[in-house]
Amino acid sequence: MNVLTDRYGRAFPYLRLSVIEACNFRCSYCLPDGFRAVPGRPASLQVDEIARLLRAFSKVGMRKLRITGGEPSLRRDLTDIIAIAAATPGIEKIALTTNGCLLSRRVDAWRDAGLTHLNVSVDALERQRFAAITGHDRLDDLLRGIDRALALGLGAVKLNAVLLRGLNDDQWPLWRGYLRTHPVSVRFIELMRTGDNAEYFARHHLRADAFEAQLLEDGWRLLPREGDAGPAREYAHPDFVGRVGVIAPYSRDFCTGCNRLRVTAQGDLRLCLFGNVGIPLRPLLQSDDDHTTLVARLFGQLGIKAQGHGLHAGDTGLTANLSTIGG
Ligand code: SAM
Ligand code: SF4
Repeated sequence: MNVLTDRYGRAFPYLRLSVIEACNFRCSYCLPDGFRAVPGRPASLQVDEIARLLRAFSKVGMRKLRITGGEPSLRRDLTDIIAIAAATPGIEKIALTTNGCLLSRRVDAWRDAGLTHLNVSVDALERQRFAAITGHDRLDDLLRGIDRALALGLGAVKLNAVLLRGLNDDQWPLWRGYLRTHPVSVRFIELMRTGDNAEYFARHHLRADAFEAQLLEDGWRLLPREGDAGPAREYAHPDFVGRVGVIAPYSRDFCTGCNRLRVTAQGDLRLCLFGNVGIPLRPLLQSDDDHTTLVARLFGQLGIKAQGHGLHAGDTGLTANLSTIGG
């Protein structure tokens, strides 16, 4: 079995696939005015195209798939997509990132289809605050969905909260209470600057350093980084069943451990979340006969994956907002 590596020796066992651009939420840092379809944009990949894509990626070493969006649960065939991934030889972990709007109703079916890992965005634990950030008063239903996911015994349940100065930076006491009883990992993500959000970023970006220093002072301990871990620094505390992760894309070594590739809803390979190139794979997803050519294209493209993103220099690449590529 060949495994994709780039010229810096990094392997890429992890693919993040956006299956839809649309979203029903209006998170103030992502789609503050709601989703608007771009006229003339081709439809999202169909299930048979996704099946061919996954076969090719698994051939070159992909072991973990994350399904994201937009909001992936808005696709009626999401359960079929999960099932197809589960039936693809080589794929061991199937993760979903969702805003949780359909979680309580669908998580059983997703688990039965083969879902193994779940990330749910929960930017605040206070109902009104949650509604103000996301545009939807859905926190209670979403928390019920998370409880259901935990009851089903999904391998890992992680909650994503974007750190926002002045909007949710007072929620830590509520999180502490939640983490005493819920065996989840809550990931505090530093706000990333995208093409659309320069002004918002200036107002609400909050560095995670002070928060991490406070965690250490309060007895949380930094866990050793696991081999296939993503970019999060993870903390545990003996009095809490839950954990805390911190994702700080502006920290120095963020790109060193990069093990992921991305494919957009229209089938463009993106080598970096903030990269400037999109490589169209869709023409090679129309027939099983193109499998070998597709695998060769994947190998070829990795050669040009850059060493790190250009965020420090203010270069946000092609990404207008993260709904287009799934974060
Ligand atoms: N709609 C799904 C959701 O919200 O979970 C999946 C797509 S969303 C783009 C994936 C993740 O990216 C979410 O956890 C969201 O909070 C995060 N995100 C979006 N825009 C961001 C930004 N500018 N900076 C940091 N994280 C962001
Ligand atoms: Fe939608 Fe997710 Fe963006 Fe929020 S973060 S607007 S839920 S795509």
